[in-house]
Amino acid sequence: MRKKVELVMLILLLAGLLTVSKSLEKYVSSEKVTKGKLTVVIDAGHGEQDPGKIGINDALEKDVNLQIAKKIKNILEKKNIKVVMTREDDTSLARNGEGSKKVQDMKARVELINKTKPDLAVSIHQNSYHEESVSGAQVFYFMHSTEGERAAGIMQKALLAVDPDNHRQEKADDGYYLLRRTEVPTIIVECGFLSNREEADKLVDKEYQKKIAEAVVQGIEGFAGVKK
Ligand SMILES: [Zn+2]
Repeated sequence: MRKKVELVMLILLLAGLLTVSKSLEKYVSSEKVTKGKLTVVIDAGHGEQDPGKIGINDALEKDVNLQIAKKIKNILEKKNIKVVMTREDDTSLARNGEGSKKVQDMKARVELINKTKPDLAVSIHQNSYHEESVSGAQVFYFMHSTEGERAAGIMQKALLAVDPDNHRQEKADDGYYLLRRTEVPTIIVECGFLSNREEADKLVDKEYQKKIAEAVVQGIEGFAGVKK
């Protein structure tokens, strides 16, 4: 009987500690925001000679990525969250080094992220598939990163604000260079499919882009534990 009581006390104590540490975590994050110390890298995928996917409506992925990335930046900065962009115009990050322009560009993005040491890095992309019917946003994370997985789960749910009928789930990956080589939690947000006519037309629409940007910001805040 006494043992049982002790066990119950122990469980209660542990539960209490867990609650305290959880709320402390939130406190620390919102403290970071008020002090402007929460840092996020926003990476607009592709650029310059690398257009990324080409839309069924001829939209170039690099342009859509940049437009959405800039909107995310604006919203985050209004919330006193520090933003570092990998690019802010139609450029490549390659700088006459070794390897192809694409390889140099990817290396430079990873270096920038690792040097910045953000709380989270979010890479913005658009998807494409040979079957036009496929659509919906999807978030990718590095399969060996628990924080990346947590961020991806929160982000995937946040994106339901854009399309509540999107049943896609966040997905683990071990192939993407950016996910493998970054030393901080990093996620890739594929905002939608440029191969789907309806979605491609939405993805070039400013209001729709704003909706996506707002959802991504919700996801970032959710991950960082920013108090509403
Ligand atoms: Zn892409």
